[in-house]
Amino acid sequence: MRDCLLERGSGRADNGIEMGAVANEFRDLSRMVVGHWSRHAARPAPLRNLTLSLTYRCNARCVMCNIWENPSDPKAEVTLDQARDVANSRWTRGLVSLSLTGGEPLLREDLAEVAATFSRAIPNCYISLVTNGLMPSLTLRRIEQILSKTTNEIWMNVSIDSLDESYNDVRGIPGGERKIQETAEGLVERARTEARLKVGILYTLMPENIHQALPVLQYAQRLGVQFTLNVINGGDVFYQQKPDTTMAWYREHLAEIKALFAELAAAGYDRPLARKLMDVFPQYLEERPRRPVACFSGFTSCFIGPFGDVYTCVPASEAYRMGSLKENRFDEIWTSERARTVREAVNRHECNCLLTCETTNSLKFSPSFLLERARDRLVNGKRPPVLIPPG
Ligand code: SF4
Ligand code: SF4
Repeated sequence: MRDCLLERGSGRADNGIEMGAVANEFRDLSRMVVGHWSRHAARPAPLRNLTLSLTYRCNARCVMCNIWENPSDPKAEVTLDQARDVANSRWTRGLVSLSLTGGEPLLREDLAEVAATFSRAIPNCYISLVTNGLMPSLTLRRIEQILSKTTNEIWMNVSIDSLDESYNDVRGIPGGERKIQETAEGLVERARTEARLKVGILYTLMPENIHQALPVLQYAQRLGVQFTLNVINGGDVFYQQKPDTTMAWYREHLAEIKALFAELAAAGYDRPLARKLMDVFPQYLEERPRRPVACFSGFTSCFIGPFGDVYTCVPASEAYRMGSLKENRFDEIWTSERARTVREAVNRHECNCLLTCETTNSLKFSPSFLLERARDRLVNGKRPPVLIPPG
């Protein structure tokens, strides 16, 4: 699953200028200082965000991703023991978010056990999952399993790129637009009686579905769940493809995309992270290959692929592989000489992607962004989006 959670609109009480909200801002400030020190010294830092891909198996047939053409052998996929090793690492103790992804992560029979492993070791991090939404019954079954085995806040994000038949053009499944809505609405219904469960909708901007961005945002607003806009940026390891054609299309249609972003903001998609991403994306297209946001991947976040390989980030190339859980413990990999070499390469800007999830992880270390977000939350009293409709 290539989509990423853009921003957690916490369901916790951090509205207005409550002390909890102030404490959150200070916590983020201290993480920012540690992150910058780590980057400056090319040294490992405690992880803030971890993405764990559990499988390359997938039931969708998306145009922007080749994962489904090369499904992984379940026996070769990352094991529970390896997940436990990561969960119990001293470097993941302060994890803020764990993203369990794929392929389609719901296809992992032991998904709830993986979530439970992290829940036991890191009870305060939130666990997010991304599904293509094409299996409504399985989604609800897996959510029940996960809720029964964990105590953490669980975010279930459904990829909805389109509400009409153009869905098939992007995801390759005729009639899939009805199934994904059934999934989203089933989750919303369940979230009404389970405060720990949060629901999000992820929209990936493609040439085929640009006309659907506003309808999908409005659909999310009607459901009362979080909307997140993703832009594509390929990776030759994870996506097994470089979606250069889409990037070229983005460039050609920059004026149209800017107009769309303005329309989305006017319609209510104006959280600080969303604003920032919509701000830097056109800049990135115009100035590529210079990434307009300093990258903290490999310092405060990392990605573990379905076969247990540890990389800096989701779109990493082989050159950014730090090690394998099949050969070493996570602690050893994270503090290895190889990891230091990789971090130095990131610092030299040898790569310059603008993948949404990695960029938003990095933005949380940007002083200007943190200031803007604190102003929004503490001074302007902006509340996080409503996540669940009143019952
Ligand atoms: S084929 Fe589609 S749903 Fe499956 S992993 Fe790739 S992007 Fe995600
Ligand atoms: S810019 Fe950062 S997130 Fe993107 S490929 Fe390089 S290390 Fe990964």
